[in-house]
Amino acid sequence: MEDHSLIQKIVARLEQLYPQASLELVYRNPFELLIAVILSAQCTDERVNQVTERLFREYPTPAALAAAPLETVEDIVRPTGFYRNKAKAVKGCAARLVEDHGGDVPKTLEALVRLPGVGRKTAAMVLGNAYGIQEGIAVDTHVLRVSQRLGITREKSPEAVESRLMALVPREKWTWFSNALILHGRRVCTAKKPSCPRCTLADWCAYGREASRSG
Ligand code: SF4
Repeated sequence: MEDHSLIQKIVARLEQLYPQASLELVYRNPFELLIAVILSAQCTDERVNQVTERLFREYPTPAALAAAPLETVEDIVRPTGFYRNKAKAVKGCAARLVEDHGGDVPKTLEALVRLPGVGRKTAAMVLGNAYGIQEGIAVDTHVLRVSQRLGITREKSPEAVESRLMALVPREKWTWFSNALILHGRRVCTAKKPSCPRCTLADWCAYGREASRSG
């Protein structure tokens, strides 16, 4: 099937399945989203939400987090894993927000990726979900896996997959599309055992068709 026709069908079905797809991280403002996304690396959203509940209660602003004792932040974020690096990143990020951006989260990709702990994926996720600015398609492990299984892309790197998706998915849907694939990857197309027999994308899915032939 030609790429654009394939992606149109997949997008239409995803819109039925996840019309309001949003992140499962809990946040009240762009600052909280930015910190939560940094902490979500290699960690479940559920655990991040448990940790940020305390973190934002004790340090509710960039200034407060920037001034927090490193050991205390390490202690709070420890359950998310890689806690030393993450504590340093969130404190450093908060400090830069205060020093360079008046305590606000910047609204451009270029400014966001200059913050400690922030790469393109995090920046796209924050811009899209906090501000509704479509600057990229956040490619996390779920988006990468599901895109490859569906046969939308054969690329391996998140950067190349993002470029491919950006060329195929209408720009106004970029943030929603990433959120929808994340949900589908968690609920149906899981890493260990994708539920192809009950997946409503199976008709257009390269992996799903292969699985039903060999099953
Ligand atoms: S058919 Fe299977 S591999 Fe394809 S998207 Fe659905 S669950 Fe994933």
